[in-house]
Amino acid sequence: VILKILRRSRSHPGAEEIYREARKAIPNISLGTVYRNLNILKQQRKISEVKSEFHTGSLYDGTVGSHSHFQCEKCGHLEDIMTLDEEKLITGSDMKERGEVTSIQIVFLGRCRKCLEKRAASHSSH
Ligand SMILES: [Zn+2]
Ligand SMILES: [Zn+2]
Repeated sequence: VILKILRRSRSHPGAEEIYREARKAIPNISLGTVYRNLNILKQQRKISEVKSEFHTGSLYDGTVGSHSHFQCEKCGHLEDIMTLDEEKLITGSDMKERGEVTSIQIVFLGRCRKCLEKRAASHSSH
């Protein structure tokens, strides 16, 4: 159920959000069970954990494979960027000398379109 929620979601939910969603399918599931299963899925590399300074807990990602993120510094919105060639970044750098890269997470920070529109709207009203 947890894996299904994450595969379906594009919004990188936190554990509490996954818990609320999972309870619709399994009403007596506990938050502890959700955390335990998130850790198992992470170890199996079926999901990944995204740490963000804009969220207190971890966020979870059902998109497997290397991909990058765009994050809004204003509202914390996090979305996938699938158009970057992360492999090329690894081979094109001196990473081989440093060790073995097992995964790559790039976060582009800025303002999302929604927040920009909001800012533009508040400016034009003055
Ligand atoms: Zn935003
Ligand atoms: Zn993602």
